[in-house]
Amino acid sequence: MIVAMQEKATEEQIDNVIDAMVEAGVSVHRTTGAIQTILAGVGPTASLDLSKFELLPGVLHVHRISSPYKLAGRSFRPEGTVVEFRNGVKLGGERVVVMAGPCSIENRAQIFETAERVKAAGGSFLRGGAFKPRSSPYAFQGMGIPGLELMREAADAYGLLVISEVMEISQIEPMLPYVDCFQVGARNMQNFNLLRELGLVRTPILLKRGIAATIEEMLLSAEYILSGGNYNVILCERGIRTYETATRNTMDISAIPVVKKLSHLPIVGDPSHGTGRRDMVAPMARAAVAAGADAILVEVHPNADKAASDAAQTLYLDQFDKLMSELRVIAAAVGRTL
Ligand code: PEP
Ligand code: MN
Repeated sequence: MIVAMQEKATEEQIDNVIDAMVEAGVSVHRTTGAIQTILAGVGPTASLDLSKFELLPGVLHVHRISSPYKLAGRSFRPEGTVVEFRNGVKLGGERVVVMAGPCSIENRAQIFETAERVKAAGGSFLRGGAFKPRSSPYAFQGMGIPGLELMREAADAYGLLVISEVMEISQIEPMLPYVDCFQVGARNMQNFNLLRELGLVRTPILLKRGIAATIEEMLLSAEYILSGGNYNVILCERGIRTYETATRNTMDISAIPVVKKLSHLPIVGDPSHGTGRRDMVAPMARAAVAAGADAILVEVHPNADKAASDAAQTLYLDQFDKLMSELRVIAAAVGRTL
């Protein structure tokens, strides 16, 4: 159930409604928007008589949430979620945020040169995997924590934020000092135990769409994190597996406006995994910004062809520069900045 409070509701009235909801056996998630406070009640609400809540002082209206996801649905935060990071970076606002870096952190020179160029081009996040989910157990598996140390150092040297993938619960704690945002990869979108644990931290989570996941399944996975009280969830369209073989995945650009309609959570476009092909990355990045993506996640590398993972879809740094200038024009055309 959603209880929307009146614009002028007092703290005392809000507390009173929360008490009544708890008494009725539901757990309460509160969000204080620019205009009003919204209280989402999750639990056995089907048998509740909602009209009694409507009569409480300070309540504007009460309704049931018909979708299976309660906290990820737009009605929880009608004005949209803006995830705020250190350095004043906001994801979900007017500015389109750019996250760029190699698929995997490989060595000091690679990550420092990348950081310098990502910053110079106008990026906000340095990305790079330290724990890599590889299809083959014989492929490079990532540098682990020493890689994160290098990436943190490089990001700090150039004033960037860090995003990196967490693959299992045991990695959360050791990664915390190094990352500004955890990435949950496509293969782990339905690792529900991992999602529950990530609901307990307060570091933002970028949740990638699974390779065969529907948008509803992605929103339900987000719900696992939100229901733990971590409301800083960012979704990511990175392509899904279809019968098409011309690209590595089929990037579902329409997922961007669909998510915007169904959810308040910000959505990121990842044209690198979305296509798997260097020559298709820029067109799909442009399409994602045009479709309303709040950020772009793109793989770049000083020596892209020699990247230890995902070389075929990785941009050279000069190509990234060119892409950034194109994205600026597109962002402006859809009323955003970059
Ligand atoms: C990655 O970002 O390098 C990655 C492994 O992504 P995905 O989970 O989308 O395959
Ligand atoms: Mn990759």
